[in-house]
Amino acid sequence: MTKEEKSKALSKLKKEMSADKNLPLRRGATNLVFGEGDCDAKIFCLGEGPGYWEDQKGRPFVGNAGSLLNQLLQSIEVAREKVWITNVVCYRPPQNRDPEPFEIAAFQPYIDRMIEIIKPKIVVTLGRFSMAKFLPGVKITAIHGKAHVVNWNDRKLVVMPMYHPAAALRRTDVMNQIKEDFLKLTEILKEANKVEVKQMSLVQ
Ligand code: URA
Repeated sequence: MTKEEKSKALSKLKKEMSADKNLPLRRGATNLVFGEGDCDAKIFCLGEGPGYWEDQKGRPFVGNAGSLLNQLLQSIEVAREKVWITNVVCYRPPQNRDPEPFEIAAFQPYIDRMIEIIKPKIVVTLGRFSMAKFLPGVKITAIHGKAHVVNWNDRKLVVMPMYHPAAALRRTDVMNQIKEDFLKLTEILKEANKVEVKQMSLVQ
């Protein structure tokens, strides 16, 4: 697909999602937070769910966690506009509670289609809920900052699990770790660009 075709496909997907009255969390939310960024992005950032400001503005990661995400991307010289950013649930859970498994499952077909359209080189998962989509049953403390090749919809995808930026804002040790983990992305991206992902030397 050309960039223009991807952009059109994403607009169509957004319309479908907005019209889907069966999506959970819709009723209590102000706006759908579909996602934003470069429809041709190499990096696809997947968070947990919209918070207060995201719900107000209809945009992902625009509060404090978003400022940190922007800084982390800057640290590897990637502009926020050059990545795609969305969440495993696209309506705000009440009082910012954790999303329920059935809620994540309801949004999954839409998120999968987003990945399918954008075809990123790397999915950066932010926090345990998005990590569990690709790497179920693992602990984030054990695998953060390590690239994984996963089988996803009949193809290989590189997944880089990161702590959630909001967790980093609460704890200095997590902050230090997420900064270190982000710096590894540059190398992973280089590898993912030049070889078949299954041959990636940096990937376990
Ligand atoms: N936290 C998330 O997981 N997603 C957002 O969009 C904002 C904060």
